[in-house]
Amino acid sequence: MTYETVASVDQAVAEALEGERRRQNETLSMIASENHVSEAVMEAQSSELTNNYAEGYPGERYYAGCEYADEVEQLAIDRAKELWGADHVNVQPHSGSQANMAVYLAMLDPGDKILSLDLTHGGHLSHGHPANFAGKTYEVEQYKVDEETGYIDYEGLAAKAESFDPDIIVSGYSAYPREVEWERIQKAADSADAYHLADIAHITGLVAADVHASPVGVADFVTGSTHKTIRAGRGGIVMCDDEYADAIDNAVFPGAQGGPAMHNIAGKAVGFGEALSEDFQAYAEQTIANAQALADRLQEHGFTLVSGGTDNHLLLVDLRPSHPDTTGKTVESALESVGVVLNANTVPGETRSAFDPSGIRIGTPGVTTRGFTESTCREVADLIARIVDDPEDEETLSAVATRVDELTDEYTLYE
Ligand SMILES: *Cc1c(COP(=O)(O)O)cnc(C)c1O
Repeated sequence: MTYETVASVDQAVAEALEGERRRQNETLSMIASENHVSEAVMEAQSSELTNNYAEGYPGERYYAGCEYADEVEQLAIDRAKELWGADHVNVQPHSGSQANMAVYLAMLDPGDKILSLDLTHGGHLSHGHPANFAGKTYEVEQYKVDEETGYIDYEGLAAKAESFDPDIIVSGYSAYPREVEWERIQKAADSADAYHLADIAHITGLVAADVHASPVGVADFVTGSTHKTIRAGRGGIVMCDDEYADAIDNAVFPGAQGGPAMHNIAGKAVGFGEALSEDFQAYAEQTIANAQALADRLQEHGFTLVSGGTDNHLLLVDLRPSHPDTTGKTVESALESVGVVLNANTVPGETRSAFDPSGIRIGTPGVTTRGFTESTCREVADLIARIVDDPEDEETLSAVATRVDELTDEYTLYE
């Protein structure tokens, strides 16, 4: 029992926590936005800093008692600056969405215009979906990927920037397997006299390790999440040049948030420290090599990948050409039942619904943390192919489940 103290006061929650620990240990998380942080990050996140009120910033708090909160937040900031090379970093956003909210609050007025990627093409809710505050507050127009190639339609984006005249262009995506050409988007922003927000939520770790081009120094604002390809625990960050530092800090607090989650900032500090190591460099490289091995093998099995492959940690399978009668949800459920956890996803030119779309998104950050390499990932591709070919065959399901058990036993996660 890991959660003994919780169990002594609350059996129900302790059992759920134990269950989740077991679930993560015994399944392969291939959800592209998920990862597994170290025990050190988790210990920092569960520290006494959860008790502090540290409204404000290091050295200028609204409350007493912030000596150690200041130390921790400054460490997180300094390490983030070293990782991403930004002039100014705010480590307080509770999530990536709130990091984006802070940029909008700082630079836009209600009714201003956002140009962002279509959600079904790999955009994010916080880029202006009608159900999100951004969609309710601002006028939104969307650019797309080229449905033939799967790559961002940079020319279409530039044309939209000219006709729509946005106040901000948002780049950075949730389901885009290719390297983003930040300069091309910056050029469109310059022509339209718009700000450029590069949201690197998915690739924060890849950019930190320099295995993906960085938008820092190109875009006006860079936001990220701290729990996807970097293992610093749940949260967000905003980076910008010094000229926007005060505007961003005021937008995060008091604009969008109250007191910072100092315990999570401690997790960020520890995770950022880990990411400055050579081990993390090797991890980021392996994450991409693994995604490419998986992509190649799936293509050998006859699957169609959006854009034909990947440059990063994720790939997007369009099931329609190879398996026209099989939906993303069917595959998601069948794979979950054998311990491979990933998500159904819309694909460019989607012909089904967002609830049961035509694709699946597969990511390698989690399995790479477990120690998977190219050969293990090729085997995972074989297992996925077997399930997609026959998602209801009991014998196949049971054989694959057995193999997933063996793999999770061999590549352990949490003790
Ligand atoms: C994951 C993600 C975010 C942040 O999401 P949160 O769940 O709010 O942390 C922001 N933008 C993009 C493109 C994402 O993929």
